[in-house]
Amino acid sequence: MTSVQNETGVLAGEPRMLIDGELTETAGGATFDVIHPASEQVAGTATDGTVEDMARAVGAARRAFDETDWSRDKDFRFNCLMQLHAALEKNQERLRRILITEVGCPVTVSGSQIESPIAEVKHWAEHGRDFDYLVDNGVHETPLGPARRKLHYEPVGVVGAITPWNVPFYLNIAETIPALMAGNTVVLKPAQLTPWSGSELGRIVAEETDIPAGVFNVVTSNANEVGAALSADPRVDMITFTGSTATGRAILAAGAPTVKKTLLELGGKSAHIVLDDADFNSSLPLAAMMACVMSGQSCILPSRILLPRSRYEEGIEILKTSMANFPVGDPWTPGNMQGPQISETQRQKVLGLIKSGIDAGARLVTGGGIPEALPVGYYTEATLLVDVDPDSQIAQEEIFGPVLTVTPYDTDDDAVAIANNTIYGLSGEVSSADVDRAFSVATRMRTGNVTINGKSHFGIDSPFGGTKQSGLGYRNGTHGYQEYLAIKTIGMPE
Ligand code: ADP
Repeated sequence: MTSVQNETGVLAGEPRMLIDGELTETAGGATFDVIHPASEQVAGTATDGTVEDMARAVGAARRAFDETDWSRDKDFRFNCLMQLHAALEKNQERLRRILITEVGCPVTVSGSQIESPIAEVKHWAEHGRDFDYLVDNGVHETPLGPARRKLHYEPVGVVGAITPWNVPFYLNIAETIPALMAGNTVVLKPAQLTPWSGSELGRIVAEETDIPAGVFNVVTSNANEVGAALSADPRVDMITFTGSTATGRAILAAGAPTVKKTLLELGGKSAHIVLDDADFNSSLPLAAMMACVMSGQSCILPSRILLPRSRYEEGIEILKTSMANFPVGDPWTPGNMQGPQISETQRQKVLGLIKSGIDAGARLVTGGGIPEALPVGYYTEATLLVDVDPDSQIAQEEIFGPVLTVTPYDTDDDAVAIANNTIYGLSGEVSSADVDRAFSVATRMRTGNVTINGKSHFGIDSPFGGTKQSGLGYRNGTHGYQEYLAIKTIGMPE
């Protein structure tokens, strides 16, 4: 392959799907366009797979699970995933250009979406190699005498992975690699807006690894019905999904008739409680940055800033300065840290929510529209809305744009109550000069994760999941690995 190390610019990804070991088009050859959000131009096409293609892929995964040694041969799986890791490293710059092309992610901040997930492939291979799949659970007395119990960890079976468009390559890896290493077979259905981060992974698996036919399949499609077919197929044992809460509910319902194990990482509306003793000059510029990188298209973003009334205007001034000066522009230009929204539909959704906030009485401090200097590309101004009513739509609905809302509070108890006033429970943040005080507030937030003073909770070795309507189950850490395993308890003579 030619090196793309020093090339820049739009790059089309693999247009074919991977089904049963073959890179394939759909019967009839239908495709759909992939748009580069920074130029609004068509960058290339992906296969518009059908429900029949999905059925074929699930059949292949079922066969590979039931009839090959994949589920039983841990050493082979380790070797295959290390091969994949090496192949991904070789393809790293190509993958980066594909990511920027389909997402508009700025090159400057692309490391967490390329280098990090590639490193995670090796992490999961090693984690799975070293995992203890047979655990002695001791002896207990039964009417027929003592019995020893052994816990045998086994793969769940066929795993359907449905991924969103915001961090597509990272999530394709995060949802499929631990599943594969645990011995499952996988069908990946990438999001419509970002098919190549999935199909390119399929190409690399097919061309550069010994992963057997049917073990890993990728079905791209422009139709939601194809993801729905995966989540309802009786031959699928488990669905792992990241996306909106609405789609998560549909996936749970579709899996109910066959009682599918379901791992869901859904929406968020996380609060950042800035306590009255916090160092505003370090915590608030960081809060503004978090809202703008990835154009706010992040489920864990603490998008609701809660400021103490005693220091309210001081906090707003710092946030305003940080947001108004944030480097936005062409994702290919080093230094830009905010790119476009992924699509015009998404941008209009963000602008509509900003308007709803203003209509509900919020004060617009900066932003609120389309940057004048960037008429081409789906750019949105970094936007600060203050005096936001905690019950209003903009304080309740996930925006997925570079928008922060600010609400004042009087006491720590008030702040916790406002933070918890949401159907979501994904993340949260607390800032304070007193870490014990911040920790105590963190324990009262009904969320799966909290960051204190910018020290992020997020990492491959720690469980990550949501409470309330933000999810079910965990990714990462050994908890995350075990999601892809079933426990068989075997009782036997001592
Ligand atoms: P968004 O609304 O931001 O596009 P979604 O949560 O709807 O995010 O999409 C995430 C993923 O879920 C995508 O891969 C999409 O194709 C898929 N999807 C959408 N609707 C369904 C459904 N009813 N069943 C299964 N998957 C779906």
